[in-house]
Amino acid sequence: MIYWDCDGVLFKYDYSMYDHIYGEPDWNEVGSHAFLRCEPDPFAQEITKRISAQMPDDQAILTAVDGRHGVKARNEQIFDKMTIIAKGYPWLNLCNFMACESEKRNAIGKIKGMRLTKSDILIDDYKKNLSAWRNAGGTAVKYVNGINSIGDWPGPYIDATFMAEEEAIEILMKIWYESC
Ligand SMILES: [Mg+2]
Repeated sequence: MIYWDCDGVLFKYDYSMYDHIYGEPDWNEVGSHAFLRCEPDPFAQEITKRISAQMPDDQAILTAVDGRHGVKARNEQIFDKMTIIAKGYPWLNLCNFMACESEKRNAIGKIKGMRLTKSDILIDDYKKNLSAWRNAGGTAVKYVNGINSIGDWPGPYIDATFMAEEEAIEILMKIWYESC
């Protein structure tokens, strides 16, 4: 399974979402519907669309939600993220939408009831998630989006700032076939 992160990967990273007058991100405020303002990333759209055409059931969405401000705020984040995926990524199956409050590697490990394997491929822009995933036995691919950078990431990556979509798809498919 290929697991796609939302913020900074499927959707453009939005600085304004982190700059709230009370010092808390908007999405914790019920009724803010902060995620409905997110813009899909055209590079990720093209890649997921083309992979879907060949492997319709092998892509999932794995996104973190903030449950520290109550169930209502958390559920709004979940529904809004599902809504923007349905709009921006109609080729992805929402049955494969997973929201987690804890670490991503733990969420999937629990669902599967075992350690991650090489064919659990996470595409994420955040090094902490990527390192934890890799250490848990999965394959982690960094998504370079123009706000983050490759930095000292030692693993595979795809770069939305200069790669052609074909090149990124080739990298992902190679990883996929080698892991099976
Ligand atoms: Mg992210």
